[in-house]
Amino acid sequence: MQITQNPIRSIAIVGGGTAGWMAAALISNILKGTDTKITLVESPDIATIGVGEATVPSFMAFLASAKINPKEFIEATAGTFKLGIRFDDWYRKGNNFFHPFGQIGRRIDGHDFYQVWLKTIAQGSETRLMDHAPAAIMAEQHRFMVETQLQNTPLENYGYALHLDAVMAARYLRSIAQANGVMRIESTVNTVAQDQRGYIASISLVDGQKITADFFIDCTGFKGLLIEETLQVGYDDWSHYLPCNRAVAVQTENIHEPAPFTVATARDAGWTWKIPLQHRTGNGYVFASDYCSDDEATQTLLNAVDGRLVNEPRIIPFVTGKRKKIWHKNCLALGLASGFLEPLESTAIHLIYRTLVHFIRNFPDRDFIPLLEQECNAQIDQDYLEVRDFIILHYCTSQRDDTDFWRWCNTMPMPTSLQKKMADFRQRGQLERNSENLFGVDSWYSILEGMHIRPEKYHPLVDALNSEKLAQSLMQGKQAIYEMAMRLPMHGDFIKQHCASLR
Ligand SMILES: Cc1cc2nc3c(=O)[nH]c(=O)nc-3n(C[C@H](O)[C@H](O)[C@H](O)COP(=O)(O)OP(=O)(O)OC[C@H]3O[C@@H](n4cnc5c(N)ncnc54)[C@H](O)[C@@H]3O)c2cc1C
Repeated sequence: MQITQNPIRSIAIVGGGTAGWMAAALISNILKGTDTKITLVESPDIATIGVGEATVPSFMAFLASAKINPKEFIEATAGTFKLGIRFDDWYRKGNNFFHPFGQIGRRIDGHDFYQVWLKTIAQGSETRLMDHAPAAIMAEQHRFMVETQLQNTPLENYGYALHLDAVMAARYLRSIAQANGVMRIESTVNTVAQDQRGYIASISLVDGQKITADFFIDCTGFKGLLIEETLQVGYDDWSHYLPCNRAVAVQTENIHEPAPFTVATARDAGWTWKIPLQHRTGNGYVFASDYCSDDEATQTLLNAVDGRLVNEPRIIPFVTGKRKKIWHKNCLALGLASGFLEPLESTAIHLIYRTLVHFIRNFPDRDFIPLLEQECNAQIDQDYLEVRDFIILHYCTSQRDDTDFWRWCNTMPMPTSLQKKMADFRQRGQLERNSENLFGVDSWYSILEGMHIRPEKYHPLVDALNSEKLAQSLMQGKQAIYEMAMRLPMHGDFIKQHCASLR
């Protein structure tokens, strides 16, 4: 039998925000050496969203797959390191907890650390779960070091991500993509033409140019110019689970050394974020308009920020949910064009990367066999659902009842997938392990422990371990993490020495 290839010869990316330039940088690197031409169109008249500055550890994998040097990226984007998120006032006012990246503890004689820790708690130990999470202790002490220096130390199981300036990041990714041969056109798309099958045939620009391509990537932001306005795939609205539908954002001058973590503080009708960069801090309030007006939200945010304002507060409306199909015919939606979940766990940039990974795994040719699109959409749906349930977890487990918003959360609807997970957990702390998931079991344990929820029992086989030895081993582990963390440089000093901003 003869093998005949029918490769994609051209890809047009519409939109030059984080999504557009991440796609251009990654795909151009992967397609280097092929004849496929990549063009990116970005409008000089339609601004990028300009927020989206906290990432999760998969962002480091994105940089590696796009062959981007992390040090150069941090210097170019005034980035800082992120060891996790501190959640203030979520369980109850005045209480905080940390969601660290990386692992919590190590397996002991083949037993899951969390189960072992539960046994010590049952026996009266008061050691905090977070005492065994290297990233939590490093964050608490504002210390940082890169992984190459921490191998074979008590801190080696930590994880980290970055905070970045969104505008600088798009600019830097653009330079990488252009160096890989991506053609950039600065213009606005005003019409989209389809062929008789309904596939996108071409886009026409306001300056009269017409661009044809075999495949289109829609990175046009919330409106989804190609995926929704043209292909009309429809939207799954998840506002009944997550009622926050607006944000107000503002930037401030730094008054402290940047912390190596994001802060998410629960407020009367949602929560505020604080994302420290080298040159400024990004702040915002994500709120539900049923419980709070734009003016009230702005005032709450302004009362919460430290440092002088760098820009004017800006309101950003959104609808929580995702497109019914993120890949349809010859179009993939990416970034805000594909859907949006509030940034409580900084997952949007992660979802951009994951969508690109799934797309590349299922990369089509011009035959566009339906299986690839179906497979890719199923994988992306899984990622979205995982993130959705994890975000809902933060609301439905809160004990706050001091405002109408939080009283609503006390009895809020929960998807059956989350109900099942919570029921499994409550019995004896067992959660399904899936290496494809962004939020592994340690992430779930962090939030549940932060919300004071523990299972009724621990795994019975843990009783095979000698209690005294166990308590001693945990105490030594905790001490070793703390002592090693205290030997690391302060986060601010580390940045100044190794990756200070070039701006
Ligand atoms: C309040 C808020 C906070 C967020 N915080 C985080 C966070 O902490 N972490 C995280 O990972 N994500 C976060 N996000 C999400 C993140 O901002 C986005 O995922 C990311 O910026 C990608 O945006 P985008 O590129 O899809 O869209 P945009 O930045 O909106 O870019 C759209 C692009 O399309 C172009 N365009 C539009 N129409 C046309 C046209 N007709 N012709 C040509 N070009 C066109 C525009 O010029 C622009 O270049 C947040 C989002 C919001 C709303």
